[in-house]
Amino acid sequence: MDAEHHEEDINKDNSHEQGGNTAKYIADSSVPGISKFLRMMGIDCACDCSYTDAYIIFIARSEDRIIITRSSKLHARLQSYENKKAKLERQLEKAKNTGDEEYIEIIQDELDEIKPLKYYWVESLGRENQILDVTGHFKIRYIPELLFSRCVKCNGKVRRVVNKNDIKDKVYELTLEKNDYFVQCEKCDNVYYGNEQGNAFQKKLWKSARDLCNRLSYEDTTSH
Ligand SMILES: [Zn+2]
Repeated sequence: MDAEHHEEDINKDNSHEQGGNTAKYIADSSVPGISKFLRMMGIDCACDCSYTDAYIIFIARSEDRIIITRSSKLHARLQSYENKKAKLERQLEKAKNTGDEEYIEIIQDELDEIKPLKYYWVESLGRENQILDVTGHFKIRYIPELLFSRCVKCNGKVRRVVNKNDIKDKVYELTLEKNDYFVQCEKCDNVYYGNEQGNAFQKKLWKSARDLCNRLSYEDTTSH
């Protein structure tokens, strides 16, 4: 299979599932390892421990993100929205039967205001189990080219620094001197250095990151 078709295949696989590599996620502080891991794999995952439940819901709705949580408080709140929606839908059915146009309109307006929320309640305990749970549920695959393509700190995309001088105020002099590969976050300006072709330490770091991604990502065993 050539690269183009392989890419198409990945996207096709992801589109039928609510999630996949191309969806956007938001994790809360009840699942601490998830966002860093997903970002490392290049997946868009918002997370900030200062976010309140209401704000997480607001972001999920406005940015079309899937909520990942283990918080029973947030889970209860999300379920209450679902219950409210189900109740309104039942009322709408009844109203349609009676043909009360004005009432139908009122319920429809209320329903329109409840934007759909997607969320996933993580049942597993422990960092690695939770990651496996999430990547398995959403079929999130490890795509080697996307490793470290996002800032683990803020979720922004990183881009290659062409001219080392541009970041000389951001890193130690010795780091600047000893390295030739730098990337910078488009959002928070944080600079990362080194790659697989770097020194022994960098090689080791990349290898362990790749091993971790292989081990904790989703692998479709049915297509092999
Ligand atoms: Zn950043």
